Amino acid sequence: MKIGIIGAGHAGVEAARVAAAAGAEVTLFSNESVLPYFRPRLVALAFGQTAPDSLGIKPAGWYSDNHIDLILDAEVSALDAATRTVTVHGAKRTFDGLILTTGSKPVQPPFVSTLRGSRVLPLWDMAHALMIRDKLVKAGHCAVVGGGILGIEAALRAREIGMSVTLIERVGRLMPSQFGARASDVLRKQLEDKGVEVRLARSVTQAETTESHVDIHLDDGSVLSAAFCLVSIGTRPYAGLASAGGIALRRGVMVDPTLKTSAPNLYAAGDVIEFEGVSRSSVREATAQGKLAGENVVAALQGKEGTRFEPLLLPLTFKAGDFELCALGAPGGEGLEEQVLDVPVESAFRALIRHQGALVGVQMVGTRAGLDDFARQVVRMNKPAP
Ligand SMILES: Cc1cc2nc3c(=O)[nH]c(=O)nc-3n(C[C@H](O)[C@H](O)[C@H](O)COP(=O)(O)OP(=O)(O)OC[C@H]3O[C@@H](n4cnc5c(N)ncnc54)[C@H](O)[C@@H]3O)c2cc1C
Repeated sequence: MKIGIIGAGHAGVEAARVAAAAGAEVTLFSNESVLPYFRPRLVALAFGQTAPDSLGIKPAGWYSDNHIDLILDAEVSALDAATRTVTVHGAKRTFDGLILTTGSKPVQPPFVSTLRGSRVLPLWDMAHALMIRDKLVKAGHCAVVGGGILGIEAALRAREIGMSVTLIERVGRLMPSQFGARASDVLRKQLEDKGVEVRLARSVTQAETTESHVDIHLDDGSVLSAAFCLVSIGTRPYAGLASAGGIALRRGVMVDPTLKTSAPNLYAAGDVIEFEGVSRSSVREATAQGKLAGENVVAALQGKEGTRFEPLLLPLTFKAGDFELCALGAPGGEGLEEQVLDVPVESAFRALIRHQGALVGVQMVGTRAGLDDFARQVVRMNKPAP
């Protein structure tokens, strides 16, 4: 039973572990030149707070010890989904089962560049993190575009190493996908207390990089000068290989409830998929899906039924010193009711989001009091019928 896995991130490594443990001959293709790493730690690496070799998902010897043939610098350049044949460096290999775990890519407006010398950078892989690290200037200025969790963490870490920071968000509130206006406002005040300048409802129109700095032009006519500008405005499933290979996709690769794609014995997991119409960007979700895809491809090859994936309803939590936030479920909006709760400390915020009485969302800033209890009660909105 030969199983190929394309992409060695959180989903790919877990799929490989499970398939190899079930006795399959597993080949794990990575287009990166370093061992698979824990992607959220890239923020600490970018700001010089950890070393590249501390990020590994598994230790170096783990892959061969677990009978996984991990091939680095191995970009799968073509895929024939019908025959499960992949092309790597011009050579074709055919597998009994395949799992696509190519992840996602950051959305990059035209002013972002990863070319050498650029000072306007995304942060999605090890190479980006090292490019940012090269540009750190003690007491210099750092601009961050995107007020999501990645942008907020970057802003806080830049402050920790003594840089001044401007955080720019196009929408009129921070973390707009997770938080309503009140929670976002508390978040903004807490960031400002940490010395982060927050500019809401502002977009970057242009960026001009010089030898020593970058000038960032905003839509109100102002210009910010920074040592570098980190851009984090969202991600998209990285599904080009699937589309060229003949697999059905919309925004992400379409899968059935067992994570099977439209092609026979070909499964997909992690950020690359669209499940029940939603594409996520989550380590825990990617890992859980990778596990199930590994189990289900083995089951399919043994002529057994696959298990259905049950999406996880997990809180997004973040803590750095006394800065803390948690968000779960719906951010609020039309037809939803926001119930503000008491807080244990001044300047914190807690709210529950309800839909026709049912708890569908939790938002907390500066505290996580009661989170575990609420998390147990939250129900998914618009859960499709089985
Ligand atoms: C800086 C940062 C901070 C984050 N923080 C958090 C967080 O706090 N919590 C959280 O839950 N999530 C966080 N995320 C998101 C999380 O990292 C992703 O959701 C997760 O990595 C998805 O796992 P995956 O296996 O689907 O894809 P990935 O981990 O992206 O792995 C995909 C791999 O496939 C490789 N690949 C792509 N195409 C090919 C090909 N053709 N051939 C071979 N290899 C290929 C890619 O190079 C990559 O190595 C963060 C992400 C970043 C970048």
